[in-house]
Amino acid sequence: MKLAESMEMASKILADATKGVVFTGAGISAESGVPTYRGHGGATWSKYDPSRYANIDNFFSEPEYFWSFFKEVRSRVLSDCHPNPGHGAITELQKRGIVHRIITQNIDGLHQLAGSQNVIELHGNTRFFDCLDCGNVHSLDDIVKMQKETLVPKCQACGGVVKPRVVFFGDALDSETLQNATEAVASCDVILIIGSTLQVYPAAQLPIIVAKRKKPIIIANYGSTELDPIATCRLEGKASEILPALVDSLSDSSTNNPKPESPK
Ligand code: NAD
Ligand code: ZN
Repeated sequence: MKLAESMEMASKILADATKGVVFTGAGISAESGVPTYRGHGGATWSKYDPSRYANIDNFFSEPEYFWSFFKEVRSRVLSDCHPNPGHGAITELQKRGIVHRIITQNIDGLHQLAGSQNVIELHGNTRFFDCLDCGNVHSLDDIVKMQKETLVPKCQACGGVVKPRVVFFGDALDSETLQNATEAVASCDVILIIGSTLQVYPAAQLPIIVAKRKKPIIIANYGSTELDPIATCRLEGKASEILPALVDSLSDSSTNNPKPESPK
């Protein structure tokens, strides 16, 4: 199917939706300067190996590696990045009552910065850092300050091990967060998947729930994904271009077929 045809199909599906779920991965933030792990713009950008710094066993066995990566790359990238027009388009879909919930695998907080509500962060975030010994919570600012003095930050209250509130490879997802995400896909009328290879589980099983319910699956990605064969339609391209174009196409179709005004 050509992009114009897929765009028209996606636009028609979304025009009728009121309980849409958006599901995002690293690709939505690529154009905000946060590199992906795989696919276009994937991990070759850094001397740090994601299979090492993003692995929970390594976090405990060689904390210096994770915290060097964090100091040199992650905290700098995260404090310099801003939402791009792709994030903005998702917020617009939400404002129009088409999208109800956003499920993200990202830890960068860019959906919230773009004004989106109801964001389920499947893999946590880097706004909070918990002491594993006493539960004391530290902010990103606290960590950045501490890392000026010492590479591996320690709890300010008890000197214990501090861990970012992110889900590492090998970590379990927070059960309540996963439950909320599962409920969202179990009741949505469409899922729009953006910027994910759909290779990371259990996150990637969420769209499969939508497929089993025979609801439409729209995939907007730069490059192929694992679930392309079951997509209702696929929009190939960069999120910052495809998503604003999709919102524009909705505006065009609503001008042609205005929705009836709700009773006052
Ligand atoms: P992934 O790296 O496996 O896949 C990203 C996909 O996005 C690839 O298919 C890539 O080709 C595509 N892509 C690249 N640029 C794009 C663009 N401009 N527009 C649209 N698509 C684009 O990502 P994933 O499936 O999210 O899995 C990676 C894991 O790593 C996740 O668990 C996530 O938590 C974590 N991660 C998060 C961030 C972040 O917070 N921004 C960044 C890297 C990795
Ligand atoms: Zn502590």
